[in-house]
Order: sequence, then structure tokens, then C-alpha cells
Amino acid sequence: MKFGGSAVGTTAALTQVLSIVLHERSRWDRLLLVVSALEGVTDALIEAAHLAQLGNRRGYRRIAATLRTRHLALIEELPLGSTERSALQADIDRLLFDMLDLCQAMANTTGGKVLDDNVDAVVGVGERLAARIIAALLRQNKLWSVAIDTTDLIVTDDVYGNATPNIPLTRERINKHLLPMLERDIVPVITGFIGGTTTGKPTTLGRGGSDYTASVLSVCIDADEVWIWADVDGMMSADPREIPEARVIPALSYEEVAELAYFGARILHSRMIGPLRQERIPLRIKNVFKPQEPGTLIHDLSTLRSQALKAVTSIQGLGLTAERSGPLSLIAEIVDETLFNTIGSHADVMISSQSSTHSFVCFVIPTSAGPDAIHTAQTTLEERLLHQPETQSWRVHPVSIITAIGAKLDLFPGLIGEIFQSLRDVRVLAIAQGPSRCSLSLVVEPQDADSALLQLHQMILNSA
Ligand code: ASP
Ligand code: MG
Repeated sequence: MKFGGSAVGTTAALTQVLSIVLHERSRWDRLLLVVSALEGVTDALIEAAHLAQLGNRRGYRRIAATLRTRHLALIEELPLGSTERSALQADIDRLLFDMLDLCQAMANTTGGKVLDDNVDAVVGVGERLAARIIAALLRQNKLWSVAIDTTDLIVTDDVYGNATPNIPLTRERINKHLLPMLERDIVPVITGFIGGTTTGKPTTLGRGGSDYTASVLSVCIDADEVWIWADVDGMMSADPREIPEARVIPALSYEEVAELAYFGARILHSRMIGPLRQERIPLRIKNVFKPQEPGTLIHDLSTLRSQALKAVTSIQGLGLTAERSGPLSLIAEIVDETLFNTIGSHADVMISSQSSTHSFVCFVIPTSAGPDAIHTAQTTLEERLLHQPETQSWRVHPVSIITAIGAKLDLFPGLIGEIFQSLRDVRVLAIAQGPSRCSLSLVVEPQDADSALLQLHQMILNSA
């Protein structure tokens, strides 16, 4: 079970976590928890690391002090015995001291080489704090529980800020260090989001990466199920912050949920589905405040022929336009390289269309790349394209990608017609049906995104 930042951020949420764990502990032979940092803590740590890189000592010290106050206030409110509480206080202080040391080291090298690996060590402190708090809370309630840092357990590549775990190497370490604990009936509380390179340098798995940790761990221990506890009722037919009428989707296939996560449903980390799908491990998304509700179940639905659209998402992307036609391979290469260098992820999906006189290419900026990614990628890309005569005529502009998701769109051609009919006043720059055949993406101007989303969601509601 993985508990997200909003499910561990307050005393009320932690009380829920405790009752859920006590209840589920009696139903399953073995239980393993993965936790995120308290809500907002990772943002603060990223800010601290930036300030350290700029040499702003007062800035990162202020953040460390705020984080200390927040965590201490939280454990003050929790029903902990005095031994647990003072041990926790000492842990919190030690972790934040270490964080300050790392920031100090970064501030000292300002103007010189930027130490990317220190950034990840700073940013991962939030999960290490949260794991200790939750393990203490469980111990206080008679469970054998231990907080575990994953820097030496989840082995990743060295793409700092957006690393990918190496499953075979991780499995070896898990067999050696984690399985024996499970056999001894311990409930490990594991840090989400963080890993380490083969040489032990701390890494992080991209924003929202605790989901990915849960997925990798479940594959490595052959889990029966993975449950993600959040503060929403499940996967929704649209982002409820944008569409208040959005509803819970009871069941999704791995393909559908992978498209949903990739195309912007912020509740799941997009790369977490791959490993689960390969091993056919069911995934449940549940609301920590309504544990009796079924939430969303993601599993193998490949035999089901469903006609309904289930969800619609909106995500930011960059479009590239040129008033000429020709091979797109050079552009694709430049885009991929630039994305990898600026935001640490490849241009996994590219939507393109050409006529004899125009070319258009568009790619997604994954939400795991963080909120500044779109701007950074655009400026870097513009810069790159200008320096090459063959690419100077390309224009880079932000776009929105609206994706409708539902089982097997191609089996029901009428659906695609309906989608277009519902979008009459939206200018569509390009379209693509996903090869999984359960998604249709429309590239639109950013100012049209909201109305496209609303109209497609209305179509989902009408068809139910
Ligand atoms: N705490 C990390 C983040 O905010 C990871 C996570 O929440 O899954 O991105
Ligand atoms: Mg999340």
C-alpha cells in the first residue's frame, strides 16, 4: 500500500492511515507500505536546493526551519509515547541537519560545477522524514514496523531528478534485505520517490514518483495487489479541479490507465503502470478518508468490449510548425535530445502531421517533469533550432493535448464521429489515435483546452 502526500500530511489523515493499516494487517499475510513526503514538502525541498545552487544561504535555512517546525508540530499532535517522540525529534533534526550540510556544499560551489546528485539527496529528505513518522506511529500501536530508506534498495540509472529503476538489480537487493523482514512479520515503511545509483548516489524518480516505487517493489516481491491511497475517490472521468462533475471510474484496463496517466491524469505516475501490466498485478486507487468505498480497480480487461468513453484528460505540450514539408527525423532527434537534456525524459509520444506545404510536430511534457518544464524546454528548443540552417524555419509554441480514453475506439467508429461533433467550436491542430486503440488525442491551442475538455466530458456524462 502506498500513501500519498495528502494522505500523510495531517493528524486527521494519519489517524486514517493507522486504522487502515491495522485493519488490513489482519486480512493479509504480508503488508508493505510506501510513503510520500507530507504534502508540499517536496516543493519546498526543490526550492531549497535551487536557492542553495544560487548561493542563497538564508533562503534554504529558512526553508529547513519551516520544515522542522511543521514536522515537529505534527508529531506533537500524534498519540506517541515519550520515547518514540523524542527519538523521532532527534531523527528529524538529524535529517534536516544533513540536508543543510548538502545545501551548504552546493552553495559553496556556486558558479562552479552544479552538483546534480546533491539536489536529489536534498529533495528526497521529505520521504525519509515521513517514513520515520509513520513507522513510529505503527510501533506505538503494537505493530512491528521499521522505516526503510531506499537509496540502497532501489537501484536506478543516473538520470538525476527523473531516474528509472533497474528491476533485476533492485530485486536482488530486495531478496536480500527486505524479504527477510516480511518473513519476520515486520511491516516495513518504505520511502517512496527515492533510489540510488549502483555506486550509491541518491536519485529521485520524477515528481509523483512514490507510485513508481510502489510499482517496482510490488513486481520485485511478487505482490498480490497494489493499493494507492490518495485523497480522491479513485481515477476520475476528468480532473475534478477542472470539471467538478467528474465521476469515479470503477474499472480500467492497464492500457487505458497507462494512457490516462501519460496524458495528464495527475493522480498516478505515468511510468508506474508498465511493470504492473507486465506482471498482471491488480492496482486499486482508494480514498484514505473513505476506505469502505471501492475506488478504482485497474486490472486485465482485455476481453471486455466496452463502447463507452471513460475519461478525458488535458496536458501541456509543445508544438513545432514549419511552412514546408520534408523528413521529420532531424526534428525528432533534436526534440528528443533537448527534452532529455532539459527535463530528463525522452519524447516518448510524438504526434505529427504533414501536408505538401506544412509540417507539424507535437510532443507531451510529462507532468512528472515539474511545473517549469514547459518553459525550459521551449526556450532551449528555440535556441537549438536557430543554430542550424535546416531548422531555422521551425516555430515552437505551447499547445494542449486533449485525450479521450475508452475501450477500443476503433471498434466503434461512431464514437470518433461523436467526439468531433461535440467539438464544433474548437480549432483542432492535429489528431492521433493511440496504437493501443483506446485513446484519441486532439492537439488544440491552449486557450481552447478548457472548452474542449468540458464538451468531451459532457459527452461521457451523456452516454452513461
Ligand atoms: N513527494 C514526491 C513528489 O511530491 C513524490 C510523490 O509524492 O510521489 O513529487
Ligand atoms: Mg502522487
